[in-house]
Amino acid sequence: MYDLHSHSDCSDGILSPEALMSRARAQGVSTLALTDHDTLDGLERAHRAAQAEGVTLIPGIEFSSQWGRGGVHIVGLSLDTAHPALLAAVARQRQAREERALAIAERLEKLGIPHALEGARQVAAGGQIGRPHFARFLVEQGVVRDMGAAFKKFLGAGKPADVKFAWPDMTTVIEWIHGAGGLAVLAHPKKYPLTRTKMCALIHDFAEAGGDALEVISGQQPAGQADDLARIAQQTGLAASCGSDFHRPEAPWQELGNFGPLPGGCTPVWELAGFPAPRSP
Ligand code: AMP
Ligand code: MN
Ligand code: MN
Ligand code: MN
Repeated sequence: MYDLHSHSDCSDGILSPEALMSRARAQGVSTLALTDHDTLDGLERAHRAAQAEGVTLIPGIEFSSQWGRGGVHIVGLSLDTAHPALLAAVARQRQAREERALAIAERLEKLGIPHALEGARQVAAGGQIGRPHFARFLVEQGVVRDMGAAFKKFLGAGKPADVKFAWPDMTTVIEWIHGAGGLAVLAHPKKYPLTRTKMCALIHDFAEAGGDALEVISGQQPAGQADDLARIAQQTGLAASCGSDFHRPEAPWQELGNFGPLPGGCTPVWELAGFPAPRSP
């Protein structure tokens, strides 16, 4: 059982890398990719924990990237985590996230919500800072009822505390991943605010830019989505990946390993050259 997309508290997940690995084993996941947002910080601890749990760890990352005016996410799998150019890229992404966090806090301050940067930093507890940390701060402060409301009212695309931000384009991000010997996967294509036609154009551009695979399965999806994406992957010559996008235990639709098999006809990303074979038990 492959789950090739998950988060720890080194970015916006709730579980430590150790707790994540233990949960993966309990969920019957034999091969797990840890793919924290723009950081490799959890991978060393995850590697040790994976060995203890008998789980195969795929070292990964989820890069923030840009397509047109919108943000998209590109997962890198099976990376050489010591590759200097990758480390430099990750350092730049961290700097960008810090600058964006400052800008988000300034927006919130203008909206009458002070000290949001300190608050979000405290929630992140040293992890890579992101909008979910601001969302949890807003919930803690009683400004909104839950995280969904925080995105809907303040942090989501086009909302008052949403900062327009230029992430690196897909070609650049795919080069970072390939440079470190990894495979590039376009994450959760159905989750962007795009029409199906625009989504197909995005996937086409991703393939043109050198991308390797499409995330055909992202956790629990509405019926028909995986089949639709599998067909598009085949048409564009992309392999297929699957992952839960796990962030926290209370979200069964993103539970580790909680999804069906890849539709027939597509090429699983783990059959591509460069993907490590799972350890035999
Ligand atoms: P960032 O990477 O800082 O731009 O934040 C994006 C992250 O926010 C995603 O990876 C999700 O984990 C989370 N997220 C996005 N939209 C929502 C939402 N409506 N409710 C809760 N979390 C969300
Ligand atoms: Mn996230
Ligand atoms: Mn994502
Ligand atoms: Mn993710």
